[in-house]
Parts: sequence; structure tokens; C-alpha cells
Amino acid sequence: DVVVCRLSHRPGRDDRMTTHVGLTARALGADRVVLPDNATGSAETVRDITDRFGGPFEVELSGETKALVRGWDGTVAHLTMYGLPVQDVETELREAVASEPLLVVVGGEKVPFEVYDRADYNVAVTNQPHSEIAGLAVFLDRVFDGAELEQPWANADRVVVPKETGKKVVEPDE
Ligand code: SAM
Repeated sequence: DVVVCRLSHRPGRDDRMTTHVGLTARALGADRVVLPDNATGSAETVRDITDRFGGPFEVELSGETKALVRGWDGTVAHLTMYGLPVQDVETELREAVASEPLLVVVGGEKVPFEVYDRADYNVAVTNQPHSEIAGLAVFLDRVFDGAELEQPWANADRVVVPKETGKKVVEPDE
């Protein structure tokens, strides 16, 4: 199991970022996203996309994201520009995922020290400041080694047919 946890959310300001953390987690192979409980709109959007484009993917709201990290029974990877380069830890992370649940933590506003401390891996996607969405995407692609790009989707109402030009969306099995 790979679960993504968005540590904090500022309503209004972070709405699109938090939604996109959820959508990116879903599209790039995670099993579940946990969002702070003040991000109800983002949770609704990600659930709605899952209903239409398929799953399996779970969206959960939590009043205690820090407690989730603290008590996680498995491996914790915290994405931070101050961490170890993802290319140096990806092999170990792949081995860890094969045997126990992985919690991938992304920050928002300031991340408390206890998260750095609890993390089994503080992982940097470059040591440059950028975005939790970009960091998450590269991280998941490294952990899944590209296999997430070919994942099947179940219970979709609609399926996009890849086209060189234009847009084609059909009902499944068409
Ligand atoms: N200012 C915040 C702090 O000091 O903790 C971080 C803000 S940053 C826009 C939000 C999140 O993006 C971070 O918590 C981290 O998860 C992610 N992030 C940004 N740059 C990253 C990088 N180079 N590698 C991995 N994650 C990164």
C-alpha cells in the first residue's frame, strides 16, 4: 500500500494545490490520500474524479495528520528539499514498499521538526525549492519505476482514448 498524506491545508489559498496532491496521488499509482479535515472541497473533487475516471482510490479526511505520521505502522517518506536525493534512496524505498505500507508525506506551510524526525526517509527531488505536486509526481514515478503509467482503472464511467489530435472519450469496453 502506498498512502499520500498532505500535512496541512490553508482553506482558500491551498485549495487547488491540495486538490492536485490528491489527483496526482491517484493518477500516479497511490492507493489512498489523506487530507486535513478542513480540505473538504478538495476531497470532494478527488472523489468525484475517481467516480468518473475509475479507481480503486480512497480519499480520507483526518483531523490528525501529524498523529497519522507519528503512529504509522510502516515506512514514512517525507518529501523535503532538505532531504536525501531521491535517486540515492529509490532502490531502498522500492524494497520497503514490497514488504510494508509506505506513507508519503508532503508539506504545505511550515513542516514541524517531528515529521523530519519520524520519517524513515527525508527525500528530496532535487535540493531546490519547488512544489509538493511536482515532488510527489517524480517520487511516485521513481518508486513505481514507471509501472504506474500503465495501471488499469476499474469502475470508470469514462475512458480517454489516446489521440494524436483532438479528444476522444468513450464508455468503458466500447
Ligand atoms: N516553506 C515550507 C517549509 O519550510 O517547510 C515548505 C513549502 S513547499 C512549497 C511545500 C512542500 O513542497 C514541502 O513541504 C515539500 O513536501 C514539497 N517540496 C518542495 N520542494 C521540494 C523538493 N525539492 N523535494 C521534495 N519535496 C519538495
